[in-house]
Amino acid sequence: MIPTIVHDFYKLFYPAICGGCDTTLAKGEQQLCFHCRLALPFTQFEKIQNNPVEQLFFGRVPIEFGTALLYFSKAEMVQQIMHNIKYNDKKDLAQLLGKILGERLQNIASLHDVTAIVPVPLHERKLRMRGYNQSECLAEGVNEILKVDIVVNGIQRIKHTDSQTNKSMIERWENVKDAFEIKQIEKLKNKHILLVDDVLTTGATLEACALTLIEKANCKVSIATLAFVAD
Ligand SMILES: [Zn+2]
Repeated sequence: MIPTIVHDFYKLFYPAICGGCDTTLAKGEQQLCFHCRLALPFTQFEKIQNNPVEQLFFGRVPIEFGTALLYFSKAEMVQQIMHNIKYNDKKDLAQLLGKILGERLQNIASLHDVTAIVPVPLHERKLRMRGYNQSECLAEGVNEILKVDIVVNGIQRIKHTDSQTNKSMIERWENVKDAFEIKQIEKLKNKHILLVDDVLTTGATLEACALTLIEKANCKVSIATLAFVAD
């Protein structure tokens, strides 16, 4: 009884707002309003062989499967969502979208032997500053459906990388290529790992993570991100 009253009181002053458009959520709506839910720009890449995510990694790192849930550039709403899950503490929103991603991954044949999900780690300094890793929240949502292991500290970012914005593809690669090392080899070795990250742009970070897993732990690697920045 009391928690409900407190909750209602709190909501009176801080009503829940949509993570996509800032409107107040109606009763029954969670994280996203009905309109934003319907307008999510799904890529449907998971249904396409050699989709744009997989093509992005051709000749760079051999992955088993790759996809992204949403187009980043086509809708302002997705930019708002990404900002909210990264900086505004919208962990539940990240988890919800992770779950939607998980639903689209659960029947992919080439993912059936995935036994662990690894969220792309933040550098410790950044994690301390921000308080949480949005990729980890996404991974938790994905795993509500896939129900495998999440190996949170499986790889560690050992190099604090500068912002990747305004860097060329080669500069981005130089920036991240030695950024990761394996921390929990026994949990990763010889496994098929699903790497999860929030956004895919040039793929330099994911490429570095995937190569580390393949070269240092003999893994097979697949990649799933929440958003994809199309050219
Ligand atoms: Zn909305």
